[in-house]
Amino acid sequence: MEDKKEEKKTLPVAPRVCDKCKSPVAITLAYGPHNYCEKHFTQFFENRFKKTIRKYNLFRAKEKIIIALSGGKDSCVLLHLMNKYYSKNNTLEALIIDEGVNGYREKAIKVAKENCESLKIRYTVISFKNEFGITNDKLMPLILNNPKLGGTCSFCGTLRRNIMNKYAKKFKADKLATGHNLDDEVQSFVMNVFNNDFERMKRMSATSGIIDHEGFVKRIKPLYETPEKEIIAYAAMKGINHYSQECCPYSWTAKRNEYREMLNHFENRFPGTEHSILRFYENIKPLIRPSKKETPALARALHECKTCGEPTERELCKACEMIEKIKIEQKGTKSTSKDKKHLDKYNKALTCSSTKGSCN
Ligand code: SF4
Ligand code: ZN
Repeated sequence: MEDKKEEKKTLPVAPRVCDKCKSPVAITLAYGPHNYCEKHFTQFFENRFKKTIRKYNLFRAKEKIIIALSGGKDSCVLLHLMNKYYSKNNTLEALIIDEGVNGYREKAIKVAKENCESLKIRYTVISFKNEFGITNDKLMPLILNNPKLGGTCSFCGTLRRNIMNKYAKKFKADKLATGHNLDDEVQSFVMNVFNNDFERMKRMSATSGIIDHEGFVKRIKPLYETPEKEIIAYAAMKGINHYSQECCPYSWTAKRNEYREMLNHFENRFPGTEHSILRFYENIKPLIRPSKKETPALARALHECKTCGEPTERELCKACEMIEKIKIEQKGTKSTSKDKKHLDKYNKALTCSSTKGSCN
């Protein structure tokens, strides 16, 4: 018995080596499974990024691309990759949105600016305060007081998209690139299934929108097929400066976090689940997208928003409509100190790895 125990202890363990070069493994991707050293992982990661751009025909040479930059890992990695591979043949600029979240946003914006400066990429900062006359710090307590106004991140996301499209047009961009990754897309898909939101599901893609209209700048997602965990690993290996110390104090309320947790659980138990869900969506997409015959009629229904000039089917675009609702809500609400305490209580218990909003 004693001898057997001894034998077990001394059994040699095969060293894990890179699939490509037999160097020691730096990362194991369970869904392959793939074992990679640092050099071959970063090569694999960058090849997939370039392949996604080709596969979905995201942009062409000579086009001007605006990169929506939050200062977080996804958009900073995107900025570096775009600069590495496409700065010679394309014009790149960054758009940084200041949602007005005191004690958090200014730190992330500082990192976003530092990245642009180090890569010599022009950037512009646009604030909610200047565009809509209100900050997230003022908006969010009102939204939390009245659930009929919608979710915090979906409200903020609508305002962000309004700014992105408006300024991408103003800066004469051909495309607007965002840092949405595989996890974000799969979460959106599952959320749409659970909410029976077929209309929103139809619009999901590596390129946004279903209508070609001069009022819309196409949003593109070059990290569409890239898992979030790998973005974290790539940023660490390449030493890409990004902000991750704190998360937006309003992100804990996002329903998306529940889906994120559920899908992470499935991905850990059954590696490859998220890739499968995305492939499933890509398979059904041709069947559910509006046909080429239908889209001109949809485009004809659009006109300029009475307030901001963005394309809409109604009198006001969604962002301006929401701001109008907020103004009404503001008139009927007085104190927000109670809500602030409520937020602080939740934020103390959370880290950025457990919450994430819809911004990248
Ligand atoms: Fe807006 Fe949500 Fe992002 Fe905060 S986490 S900036 S509320 S989208
Ligand atoms: Zn508007």
